[in-house]
Amino acid sequence: MSFISTRGGACATASQAILRGIAPGGGLFVPSFLPKLEESELADFLHMDYAGRAATVLHTLLDDFALDELRAMTREAYQSFSVPEVAKIVPLRDGVHVLELFHGPTLAFKDMALQLLPRLMASAAQKCGETREVQILVATSGDTGKAALEGFKDVPGVRVCVFYPEGGVSRVQRLQMTTTAGRNTRVIAVRGNFDDAQTGVKKLFTSLEYQARMDGAGRVMSSANSINLGRLAPQIAYYFSACADLLARGACTFKGGVNVCVPTGNFGNILAAWCAKRMGAPIRRLICASNRNDVLTDFLQTGEYVAKRPFYRTVSPSMDILVSSNLERLLFELAERRSEPVCGWMDALSREGRFRIDGDQLASLQAEFTGYRATDEETLAEIARVYTRRGMLVDPHTAVAAFAARKYLTESGDRTPMLIVATASPYKFAPDVASALFPEKAQGLSALACAELLEKETGAPMPPAVRALESLPVLHTRVCDIQEMGDAVLENS
Ligand SMILES: *Cc1c(COP(=O)(O)O)cnc(C)c1O
Repeated sequence: MSFISTRGGACATASQAILRGIAPGGGLFVPSFLPKLEESELADFLHMDYAGRAATVLHTLLDDFALDELRAMTREAYQSFSVPEVAKIVPLRDGVHVLELFHGPTLAFKDMALQLLPRLMASAAQKCGETREVQILVATSGDTGKAALEGFKDVPGVRVCVFYPEGGVSRVQRLQMTTTAGRNTRVIAVRGNFDDAQTGVKKLFTSLEYQARMDGAGRVMSSANSINLGRLAPQIAYYFSACADLLARGACTFKGGVNVCVPTGNFGNILAAWCAKRMGAPIRRLICASNRNDVLTDFLQTGEYVAKRPFYRTVSPSMDILVSSNLERLLFELAERRSEPVCGWMDALSREGRFRIDGDQLASLQAEFTGYRATDEETLAEIARVYTRRGMLVDPHTAVAAFAARKYLTESGDRTPMLIVATASPYKFAPDVASALFPEKAQGLSALACAELLEKETGAPMPPAVRALESLPVLHTRVCDIQEMGDAVLENS
């Protein structure tokens, strides 16, 4: 297996692709082909724990890692999860299931990949004979930052620097990041939104001058953002695992399959579902759920991607994104794996803030994907609806997906079973969840008091990490402008 760039030129092994993060010239690494898992292999999953399943899926893609090595890594990575299933399926109602991916140490689905990535990265560096320190740069809309810090802190030979939009993340998200200890961590607020931070980081990656500066400091840059192959591959694994569990319960058949509804921002999670589908998982339709930043919903309806539009802060901040980086990997497929159209679209996107695919490409996109949007009002109402009707406490991101799934079921009449992906613990967004459920009691309460109210009223246990956050000292206070990001990574170190 080799890995090629969506923008042409590059050819790399899995370890090289993981170590570099982004392909030279700004493209994303994709496998030269998508390997297939057979129905019988999926049946074998029933005799494996999650770590075993994940290693099996990873091995088909990351073929310069031995199966035993991957097993050892997944075993360690998923030990930190608070439920033995790791990726746990909970029934919501007849024919609708929820895949809970937030039982890792930072309470969001990012842990599924970021507990593993540091182990993949350390081994990749060794396989590639890299002797410099690896400088991980991360732009975060809220959850990636803490998950990356937690995964990489105190890992020898690695430094991690996280940029988050000042004022653009929830209080718990901010405190989780700024209270991180570890000798090799740095957390910086950027004056701008997530897209500004992400663009800033991408510029540093592709600047030859900055690469030389890093090299002078004895470091080589890499990315822990979802553009890294080492993020995508572990995410494919949980879709296979979920399908195996649904088949075992008789909740779906291999022939009939399951639809998947994913709350989407950077298009990483839903792209992983699409990859799993191509690799043989019985997944049918992919429902892409957006908040008010509905650039993907419009794109799926019209074939035109318009990033140049107002940016809104919403109650689902991890999806406040207008430039969904991982879409580039799907565009590469739509272009029948030719890089010229991709380069053209990406060029138009950076110059004019928009691009358009042709009619045939739109038709093949719509054959697999449907997009829905939820406003903040609809999201908060959905939190209340899911709790009152089904007794389930969901976070605002998951509520966007629950809303989209319900709309799709009503509009389409499609009876295929539905899997809603739950991406964060409700306790990560306690003030919004509490005011959606108990508006009077939640009024004027602090974030912690809101979490306590939720626990008292619903009986859903508060994760210990949420309470612990209140007594940790804030260690990171640096704020910078977009233009200063490169300097900020290197100062005082
Ligand atoms: C990151 C994140 C998302 C969006 O996932 P993408 O892979 O970027 O599409 C959704 N919900 C939560 C809670 C997240 O942290």
